[in-house]
Amino acid sequence: MTRFLWFLFSILLFCVAVRAGDCDCAIMDSMETAPKVYFATARARKWKHDDSMPGKLQRLLAAVELTARFGRGEWVAVKTHFGSPGAHRIVRPIFLRTVVDALKGVGAKPFVTDTVRIAGLDYLEVANANGINHLSVGAPVILADGLYGRDSVLMKAGEILKEIAVASVIHDVPAMIVCSHVKGHINAGFAGAIKNLAMGGVSSSHRRYGWKCGRGAMHTIGEGMMDWKEAACERCMQCVEICPLEAIKFKDDAMVWDGQTCWRCGRCQRVCPSAAINFPGNDERFMRSLAESAATVIGTFGPKKILYVNFLTEIQPECDCMPSADVPMVQDVGILVGDDIVAVEQASLDLILKEKPLPSSAAEGIFGDGVSSGDVFKAVLGKNYEFQFEEAERLGLGSRRYEMVELKA
Ligand code: SF4
Ligand code: SF4
Repeated sequence: MTRFLWFLFSILLFCVAVRAGDCDCAIMDSMETAPKVYFATARARKWKHDDSMPGKLQRLLAAVELTARFGRGEWVAVKTHFGSPGAHRIVRPIFLRTVVDALKGVGAKPFVTDTVRIAGLDYLEVANANGINHLSVGAPVILADGLYGRDSVLMKAGEILKEIAVASVIHDVPAMIVCSHVKGHINAGFAGAIKNLAMGGVSSSHRRYGWKCGRGAMHTIGEGMMDWKEAACERCMQCVEICPLEAIKFKDDAMVWDGQTCWRCGRCQRVCPSAAINFPGNDERFMRSLAESAATVIGTFGPKKILYVNFLTEIQPECDCMPSADVPMVQDVGILVGDDIVAVEQASLDLILKEKPLPSSAAEGIFGDGVSSGDVFKAVLGKNYEFQFEEAERLGLGSRRYEMVELKA
């Protein structure tokens, strides 16, 4: 009888052990499946290069083992945003140089690239004026979609866009490091790697199918015909000045809009001080289409051939393609690196939302007491940016759950 009881007890112990093992495994699994996001703070507490932002970027890139991703002699795009003549708060050339040097260090052949936002030669001049050129970054600086921003490959996209014109260089190159300046955006509310790829990985216009397969398809719906409210127009001419294609003119005090030439980039709508310009569209559709476009661009790369580096620096309210850049809304936070675009974006957001709004910025006083932190993006821009994260996760681009690995001081 005693032996029989011992037998039953042993079976019970065995079952408990197995369940406990199951439980550990489940926890391990969930930890293992949460993608790692590597983080380095912007704070510098030591007088050492290792503790500087470029030094930390070097260490972050070492932590993610570039040798395991990029082969000797392999061409690797370093995708960034060149900015605009007045928006200087881009990813600084020193950081691009650091990424380029790290890639060269593993034998890869990097180049720095962006898609055309204004006429290509002029856009290269903008890059140069903003400090991005072969000498400064240590690698060729090229346009991803040709001189006129039309060299692109039509790819199947999702339910909203159906098709999108991926910039030919980004489509063809086997590997890429996406360097994104995290900031606000008038339509997206939050702009990081998803927006950098969704808008910046595709052309404004396809050479055969025009703007409807380009980034304008995200900005507007249908035929995207401009609605100009004559009575509201102040004749300030800001729309004329900002249009990259001279598609807006005024004749006899009335606007003449060239709908054939227009890319539907939406800049005229954004700068108009009296909301006299409107294109059909809505924020949710815009943000979900961003995720679709990013998914299409990412789909042109194999596993582990695309890496995301988010720069949480100079976090101003607007896009780097606008004619000016406001002061940052919160203090610099640092740099994040990871394989999972959604995890990197979510981690970027979570870190920024812990920061207090800065005085003399668009975020000053938004939480009343001047000492609380909160959602500066929603408070300043009034958009539900989460649509882009939700949609990106739904499309299988990654996970909003992540494991943060902070670089040691
Ligand atoms: S949307 Fe406005 S700014 Fe952009 S190309 Fe068309 S007219 Fe020009
Ligand atoms: S930016 Fe707006 S207000 Fe100014 S001229 Fe153009 S439509 Fe009129």
